[in-house]
Amino acid sequence: MHISGPEALLDVCGISAGYGKIAVLHGVDVRVGAGEVVSLLGPNGAGKTTLLRALTGLLSVTAGSVRFADRDMKDAGPRGSARAGLVHVVEGHRIFTQLSVTDNLLLAAYDLPRRERAARVEEALSVFPEIAAKRHDRGGMLSGGQQQMLAVAQGLVRRPRLLLLDEPSAGLSPVLVDRVLGVVADLRDTGTAVLLVEQLIDKALAVSDRVYAMAQGRVVLQARADEPGLHQRLERAYFGEAAAA
Ligand code: ATP
Repeated sequence: MHISGPEALLDVCGISAGYGKIAVLHGVDVRVGAGEVVSLLGPNGAGKTTLLRALTGLLSVTAGSVRFADRDMKDAGPRGSARAGLVHVVEGHRIFTQLSVTDNLLLAAYDLPRRERAARVEEALSVFPEIAAKRHDRGGMLSGGQQQMLAVAQGLVRRPRLLLLDEPSAGLSPVLVDRVLGVVADLRDTGTAVLLVEQLIDKALAVSDRVYAMAQGRVVLQARADEPGLHQRLERAYFGEAAAA
């Protein structure tokens, strides 16, 4: 069953992917509408990160199709995906610790027209005044939360149509988690779609329109984020009983 939402921006149909001979994803279907925020939940090892990697060409898709903005993305690769507006902020705020905040952002904009780069950097910094104030500091001088903001800002530099965020709350204090997830809510208000991998179920649901849960490389549940009884359904899906799709 597919829940109908706004016009599909991302349409993932029956994809399989893995690492060498290890198959991890087994026929995954996921859909994200334009401007929608969708959470991707599931226990450790469910395949959430693997799915994001497969969507942006960091891993080969061995079966099924990935369509984004009506284009076949299967062979687009990471660069082609980013150019199309499908932007992946990987887990663990990977930034360049020796480069300044500004240079980290300019690097994320390296293939944009030169005259646009500075404006894009300012646009991304305007979302995070906390790091705008430290624009000349090296990335390594920032706190963990600020480094996560910088990682998200690197994604925003590309003006994504769909931002894939992999556990942006990992390692952050509760206040900073709210700050970073608050930005997700703001992005929705500006029409940017987000596919959010999170362990913090309640916080993720609070900013999401819809949710998918994965277990053992499969989607085992999809629902609206405000659906009554969702917590119980998620619990069952996590623990593998009566996984209702
Ligand atoms: P987590 O919340 O722990 O990150 P996840 O749902 O994102 O979980 P994945 O990281 O996608 O799960 O992992 C899915 C499966 O793929 C796991 O069994 C994991 O051990 C395996 N896996 C992940 N990365 C690799 C890799 N580089 N090489 C081989 N196997 C991997």
